[in-house]
Amino acid sequence: MTVASDLLQRSLGVHRVLDPVGVLPQAATRLDPDPRIAPDEVRIAVERLNLDAASFRQLAEEHGGDGDAVRAAVLGIVGSRGKMHNPVTGSGGMLVGTVEEVGPESPLGLCPGDRVATLVSLTLTPLRITDGLARWDGRSEQVPAAGTAVLFARSIAAVLPDDLPTEVALAVLDVCGAPAATERVVHRAGHRPSVAVLGAAGKSGCLSLAAARDARAGRLVGVVRNEAEATALRAAGLADQVVVADATDPLALAAAVGRPVDVTVVCVDAPGAEHGALLATADGGTVLFFSMATSFSAAALGAEGLAADVTMLVGNGYTPGHAALALHLYRCTPGVRALIDPRVRA
Ligand code: NAP
Repeated sequence: MTVASDLLQRSLGVHRVLDPVGVLPQAATRLDPDPRIAPDEVRIAVERLNLDAASFRQLAEEHGGDGDAVRAAVLGIVGSRGKMHNPVTGSGGMLVGTVEEVGPESPLGLCPGDRVATLVSLTLTPLRITDGLARWDGRSEQVPAAGTAVLFARSIAAVLPDDLPTEVALAVLDVCGAPAATERVVHRAGHRPSVAVLGAAGKSGCLSLAAARDARAGRLVGVVRNEAEATALRAAGLADQVVVADATDPLALAAAVGRPVDVTVVCVDAPGAEHGALLATADGGTVLFFSMATSFSAAALGAEGLAADVTMLVGNGYTPGHAALALHLYRCTPGVRALIDPRVRA
């Protein structure tokens, strides 16, 4: 192995992979969460995890809402995998904590004492939990936790803003890829494209609506699951049209949206929204799948079966400037704050 490839592998965290050896950390079954760091790593003292919405929903449903069982399941996953990587959904989340130690060769620019949010997924972050999650009731996506996490040279972290409560910053930063990706798609779609957001009253959904509006989208349709969410979204003033539909019911969704839109952004946290998203989108349009519950085969085969001539994009969690954009939208958009704040439990 050359020195260059050794350095690349180390910067990606390949040396932390225990099984199967040689894959990247995200693909690994098991990582080594040893808190002793390499020269280019950073150790974080963990304060709080934010479980990915799709992962939390899956765990809660599997255990019938039994918080103790959900807590045991999360402890089991982290204990056996050395990372919070839900084996069913394949998703993770992110965390906040305080930088404890910075290796002399770390390029991340962090200092001991910085309070940071990791912007790389928990599915590739070596994690050790030391308090048995004793302060968590297993009933919320946000998990007070003690332990250590390790960042690699190629990881990303944001210093937490001091004007927002930690739990709010964590919730916004967890989904900060959605508004950035939406803004990019709307800009690329040409003149004032119409946009539908599925799961529009959720965290990524309302931020995506706000980003689409700022990017000068045309007609904005917010799709929500029930009347309570519709009332909240109407009051938030983020969409021109608010419709109630089950995103997993393709015909009902297409009927609710009406004239197909140029861009559909999928922000639900439940599986099965692929076909509805395709039917709601005009030929030549774009579907942005931000949801971690998206199935590649359902999307690809569904598009073929529906003869849907649409571009389908995977919602990359990383776009340059994504964290700053999401925090800006939260701070400057009262309707976004009104929808996100009640979802964040301290
Ligand atoms: P969230 O705040 O829980 O919002 C999800 C919304 O979807 C909720 O309003 C939910 O309604 C609604 N919903 C669920 N099932 C529905 C259905 N069948 N029909 C219509 N609406 C439905 O979730 P989030 O934190 O924004 O996350 C959204 C998705 O983004 C998740 O799948 C998450 O895994 C994913 N994600 C992706 C990335 C990435 O990098 N691509 C990063 C983070 C998160 P209820 O509240 O009534 O259930």
